[in-house]
Amino acid sequence: MPTDSPKPYRTPLDVLKHVYGYDHFRGDQAAVIDHVMDGGDALVLMPTGGGKSICYQIPSILRKGVGVIVSPLIALMQDQVSTMLELGVRAAFLNSTLHPADVREVEDGLMDGEYDLLYVAPERLLTGQFLSLLDDLDIALFAIDEAHCVSQWGHDFRPEYIQLSVLAERYPNIPRLALTATADEATRRKIVDKLRLGDATPYISSFDRPNIRYRVNLKDNQKKQLLDFIRSEHDGDCGIVYCRTRKRVDEIAAFLRDEGNDALPYHAGLDAGTRAAHQKRFLQDDGVVIVATIAFGMGIDKPDVRYVAHLDLPQTLEGYYQETGRAGRDGLPATAWMIYSVGDVVALRQLIASGEADEAHLRVMQHKLGAMLGFCETTECRRQTLLRYFGENYPQPCGNCGTCLTPTETWDGTVVAQKALSCVYRTGQRFGVGHLIDVLLGKANERIGQFGHDRISTFGIGMELSANEWKSVFRQLIATGLLDVDVDGYGGLRLSETSRDVLKGERIVSFRKDPTPTKSSTKWLEKPSRGKRPPVALDDPQSQDLFEALRQRRMEIAKDHSVPAYVIFHDATLREMVVRRPQTLEALGTISGVGERKVERYGEQFLELLRRDIDTRKSIRKL
Ligand code: ADP
Ligand code: ZN
Repeated sequence: MPTDSPKPYRTPLDVLKHVYGYDHFRGDQAAVIDHVMDGGDALVLMPTGGGKSICYQIPSILRKGVGVIVSPLIALMQDQVSTMLELGVRAAFLNSTLHPADVREVEDGLMDGEYDLLYVAPERLLTGQFLSLLDDLDIALFAIDEAHCVSQWGHDFRPEYIQLSVLAERYPNIPRLALTATADEATRRKIVDKLRLGDATPYISSFDRPNIRYRVNLKDNQKKQLLDFIRSEHDGDCGIVYCRTRKRVDEIAAFLRDEGNDALPYHAGLDAGTRAAHQKRFLQDDGVVIVATIAFGMGIDKPDVRYVAHLDLPQTLEGYYQETGRAGRDGLPATAWMIYSVGDVVALRQLIASGEADEAHLRVMQHKLGAMLGFCETTECRRQTLLRYFGENYPQPCGNCGTCLTPTETWDGTVVAQKALSCVYRTGQRFGVGHLIDVLLGKANERIGQFGHDRISTFGIGMELSANEWKSVFRQLIATGLLDVDVDGYGGLRLSETSRDVLKGERIVSFRKDPTPTKSSTKWLEKPSRGKRPPVALDDPQSQDLFEALRQRRMEIAKDHSVPAYVIFHDATLREMVVRRPQTLEALGTISGVGERKVERYGEQFLELLRRDIDTRKSIRKL
């Protein structure tokens, strides 16, 4: 339903302040908007949560005609439109979920110039009928969201996206923006090529997400580790837990529920109704934990996801970064937490090898997995390692990741590595970690005897380390590519091209000292920084009460408007209300995230609580 146009605003900054209630543009936003206002095309690369939407929304509001936003995320269009309507912006969407009568209503509205923004699915946009409707309209711009969907390499490939090049031919004078959070060079080139954006100005932001704390630990007792993590750092917070298989998703979700968490499973094996219901609970309620395969998440715009936990290793750093990027879109502190084991590595290598991929693709995937492992095993700042992978230089250690907060000790493992590698060689490069460790430790068991491995030169030469320490050594040798996993056979280990350098003494090997797993697994977790409890920590109980009251009010209004709570106000906005305690509508309007329309619509309802709080404080002081 269209509301009044907010069009009296003249400049982009006007719109930002009055409609959105924000004070200044972030990063490249202002530059992109100015460029599009002047009629230019743009390629916008920003990390998740960077603020891409405003780049096309504001020019759509200010330019003549409707801004057409192509998005593959049908499930999200409703939310995006609700968000706009709450801001007082005239918006609508068209996709296959609409009834024909509603479609007609939106199309009539378009003809009458009633919208500033139209969200549309690519397959709808590409129909001849819709294109000829567009021919008759004033169009402010085309925005192609999630533009990386043109690339066949990623798992988000959408064939219709390739055909969007028709927009360049048919509407050469209308500005086009392509937007994505996928950073790599190859994808970028694909977008420019397939969407004919050769003349577009690229705007490439830093991909750093400073509010996310990256933590990686070894898998010991995974359920207990997960539970300890949630309880000690994110009790009651909204989060996403990723597992590789459906079976594990079901198991972990059930476990978390048993332990008193509001956890729900999500994977492609559940029927569509259940999936939709679980996603809805996650979006609308506070503090729901979704346990999911990677089937969940693309286009999850929920701003207050406080943590993303990985119980299994993702296949690529691109995937890891995209998944962890779903935490903390609101800019408040959030955690990306992962545990992994050598078993994960072998399983992944085998998974990749068993796929349909051709030789070249296979090598790319093995290489990407190698980078993922390198990230896990790094003794350097995790943020630096991640950003370097995406081609960005982060000048110094970040101070907000696991290794920065709890630096890992390293030790010179050159001799030990030589022993391990020659043991692999002497046993014929086809045995797994368990057997190799038995040989190194000189265990005289049946299998050893059967292969005659008690008679080779490496039998019993590794007594200086325990079996667990050897496990750690092998894991790190695999992770750093000094050993390969034989994926065609039974996952045995063999030498790689680089192992010779170590064997010849031309390369020094340094290992990280693994924390010793103990019964209480939390002891060796990378420690969180002390005393900085996440986002809405408010110093006194009364502030906490006020925050809860505001949250309650927000929930009532959201229910009333049938939208998720965050469409009304973000947590960050409520928090600022608690800290500043505005007492007038005008003062309320200066809080970040409170636009004019929101002041008008429900300002009084929040002020009532804020005033009551001040009264209580006064009477307490009098006592
Ligand atoms: P993206 O699409 O890049 O993931 P969004 O456009 O959804 O990110 O923006 C992420 C969040 O940041 C949104 O809640 C948005 O309202 C907020 N935001 C965007 N730009 C600004 C800004 N200039 N000032 C304050 N908040 C902003
Ligand atoms: Zn760091």
